[in-house]
Amino acid sequence: MFKTLYPPSVQWEITPLCNQNCIHCYNHYRTDFDSIANTFLSSEDYFLSIAKKLIENKPLSVTITGGEPLLVWNKIKSSIKLFRENDILVNLNTNAILVNQEIAEFLYSYRISCFVSLPTSDPILCDFITSSHQSLEKISKGVKILREFNARDNKRKIKAEPKFESKVALIKITPSQDPKILDFLAGEGYKGIILELFGLGQAPAQDSDNNWLPTIKRLVDKGIIICGAPQTIFGRLNPNVYSAGRDLQKTGLIFLKDMLSETAFIKLGWILGHSSWVKENKVQEKMLENLAGEFNNKISP
Ligand code: SF4
Repeated sequence: MFKTLYPPSVQWEITPLCNQNCIHCYNHYRTDFDSIANTFLSSEDYFLSIAKKLIENKPLSVTITGGEPLLVWNKIKSSIKLFRENDILVNLNTNAILVNQEIAEFLYSYRISCFVSLPTSDPILCDFITSSHQSLEKISKGVKILREFNARDNKRKIKAEPKFESKVALIKITPSQDPKILDFLAGEGYKGIILELFGLGQAPAQDSDNNWLPTIKRLVDKGIIICGAPQTIFGRLNPNVYSAGRDLQKTGLIFLKDMLSETAFIKLGWILGHSSWVKENKVQEKMLENLAGEFNNKISP
């Protein structure tokens, strides 16, 4: 057997059933009526059991397609939710005819991408291709509802806040590295430092020749903001698993969950640029506030 060395992307044909009958579609020529019948017989639990099996293989993304997946919406939305809770991207192929406010809201809140099948912009030709009546009008209605949930909200005005503290640094820590670099930065007047921590959120500690913890604590006590971010693209810090992480937490270092270190670097510079937040001791609170989706809500595997 081959071993998969990369996260696969999966296309899941959830049902062969469709409420259209497009002449170009493979469904048009389908004769496997068993799988069509299965759509009616399959329960929500059945779909969930397949979703769980897919999740075991850690796919990067799952594309849900058909037929028309929204024909079995009530049976599959729990599977879609489960994918997203496991940080798996989900795309939905749909003709949008069955889209309603509730479905659009769900898709929006779980950040599901929709690919809508629109065979043509000519209404008569559209009916001919899809073998259905007023098909273009119905598809357009669905797309309009989807757009209402995803469209730019022109009522929200952009307020530029180009405040930035440039005395911010980003450092990747490796085991046995010397912490003197922190003293150097402090001596140069740096106000904030992001440390890329290794593992679940560790820095060289008591057992290392170069224990970073006393230096971090001394600088935090002086008022320098020091935050920890993971070195990985996926995954979340958890300082509570090992004693080295728990000791690091006692220094006053702020653990930034699964925020990317580069994002953390820019965010810290921007937050420190707001002198009122600094004066009111709000830097930690702001760093841990999810301002633009920089954290994932769920714990990553
Ligand atoms: S809407 Fe899509 S799935 Fe349905 S018949 Fe047309 S091409 Fe096939």
